[in-house]
Amino acid sequence: MAIKSSFSTPLGEAACENDAKKLQFIEEVTNNTKKVQERVLAEILSQNSQTEYLQRFNLCGSIDRCSFKAKVPVVTYEDLLPDIQRIANGDRSPILCSHPISEFLTSSGTSAGERKLMPTIQEELDRRQLLYSLLMPVMNLYVPGLDKGKGLYFLFIKSETKTPGGLVARPVLTSYYKSEHFRHRPFDPYNVYTSPNATILCTDSFQSMYSQMLCGLLHRHDVLRVGAVFASGLLRAIRFLQLHWHQLAFDIASGELSPKITDPSIRTAISEILSPNPDLSKFIISECSSGNWSGIIKRIWPNTKYLDVIVTGAMAQYIPTLEFYSGNLPMACTMYASSECYFGINLRPMCHPSEVTYTIMPMMGYFEFIPHDGSTTSNSTTLVELADVEVGKEYELVITTYSGLCRYRVGDILLVTGFHNAAPEFKFIRRKNVLLSIESDKTDEAELQAAVARASELLKPFGASVIEYTSQADTKVIPGHYVIYWELLLKSSEGIPDGEVLEKCCLEMEEAMNTVYRQSRVADGSIGPLEIRVVKGGTFEELMDYAISRGASINQYKVPRCVNFPPILELLDSRVISAHFSPACPTWTPYKSTS
Ligand code: AMP
Repeated sequence: MAIKSSFSTPLGEAACENDAKKLQFIEEVTNNTKKVQERVLAEILSQNSQTEYLQRFNLCGSIDRCSFKAKVPVVTYEDLLPDIQRIANGDRSPILCSHPISEFLTSSGTSAGERKLMPTIQEELDRRQLLYSLLMPVMNLYVPGLDKGKGLYFLFIKSETKTPGGLVARPVLTSYYKSEHFRHRPFDPYNVYTSPNATILCTDSFQSMYSQMLCGLLHRHDVLRVGAVFASGLLRAIRFLQLHWHQLAFDIASGELSPKITDPSIRTAISEILSPNPDLSKFIISECSSGNWSGIIKRIWPNTKYLDVIVTGAMAQYIPTLEFYSGNLPMACTMYASSECYFGINLRPMCHPSEVTYTIMPMMGYFEFIPHDGSTTSNSTTLVELADVEVGKEYELVITTYSGLCRYRVGDILLVTGFHNAAPEFKFIRRKNVLLSIESDKTDEAELQAAVARASELLKPFGASVIEYTSQADTKVIPGHYVIYWELLLKSSEGIPDGEVLEKCCLEMEEAMNTVYRQSRVADGSIGPLEIRVVKGGTFEELMDYAISRGASINQYKVPRCVNFPPILELLDSRVISAHFSPACPTWTPYKSTS
């Protein structure tokens, strides 16, 4: 009889003892979803029973689930904004949470054009760390030998600001990478990165990217997985290589770091691994100078077993491009998280992107679900608990967190595809109200409408106006950019306003976009200049004819404000008279007071 390994778990054979513990933990919490959820809610309510927020609903210190559900309303960010503004302005009383607010996490979601500010508490870092610690044990079940090499991960921090009351406001990943948890993480052979901390912890995105790419090239044979948080980040790295391989190869040949890298910590970290290596330099030149970028990831990092990037939701648009650059390496989407709360993990990370499901980990927060059958009104109170959702149904996620969000609508629509033990597995369907997204930007219909209205004002002096418009997020070239199709009504005999006017319209639209969009344009360069494509008169009528020929009702037809169906894009593109790009970056400042 074969001897059973001591690391055997219901999820599979764990790679080591620590993994076995983590996998057992997953089993425990998913087997006891209901109990864990009850415990989490009771803990949150007893922790926060004296907060001003909960006191408003006369819970009278009760930690009972039924009174919580009967009395506490389901809310959006806008409902909480007055409370959040008070915290941002320095009110330290227990408004939402009894624990001190340690910082604000700036969500990529926006409210009135500004980033949402999510108050968080110190202990949430431990909870996030706990979720991270589950990822590799699951991955090791599917990909053996990840302790024999390194991960090339392009990880970045962004600049942080202070609210008027003195609290730091920064993205959740910036907070995590700068935390003790990340900087002083114990050595774990399954989680060794090619990027030294100093290269990640530099706010200058050029220096950070350059040094991380350089380290990746220097360790090219050790690299077993290549990743970034989102697919767009990894593609930016490839674009960076296309633009800067020459200098990188030069540094490697000479053993001298480019003087463009001025950050002293990066220079120190690189000096420990960079020495003249003419063979590697020649190799990089021969691979990159040919102009053939197909399969470049696999060619430069030949031992890569998979790409670690999220390609679900808005990032699915990048799958074909990633396949091209990676020579069809598998893509692992490992987790589902937000600034408000980290939600869950993918228990089959090597599955095809179209099959990805996330199992919400019941200890991360208290989760409820608004059935999303199209008929449900937004103030529905018939919320379903995590353990009670039904396979085949779509729901909107509502969370209650230790940081003090109570019954907060995240805005994500999820489909239940099955269960792992008693915990549901969800497919991410979409984010509500997001029309256009290249990276972390999320532009909704109202924002696009307002931007078009603002830009079209510039046409007035020329006797022209926009009669119809639609848009697409064009990600064929990296960085991707917004394309807005305009059909113009020309009142004067002078024809279409000249190119300069339309270029100004592009910039005006960008000025009207939310702060996340403008930051991506200005500080990160992760979105390219906005483009207006002017189409021939009658194009949108043709679009309607096409939709009707495919079964749309003539009475109910509405011009789609965003298109991604290839035949419609082909139709639009075949009617383009002229294309214009934004000639400059829009204005962006890191932080606008919420008061
Ligand atoms: P943020 O508020 O900037 O932290 O963004 C969080 C949002 O990003 C989530 O609410 C989702 O809409 C999206 N998101 C996060 N993880 C995933 C994922 N694995 N797949 C699809 N979308 C995701």
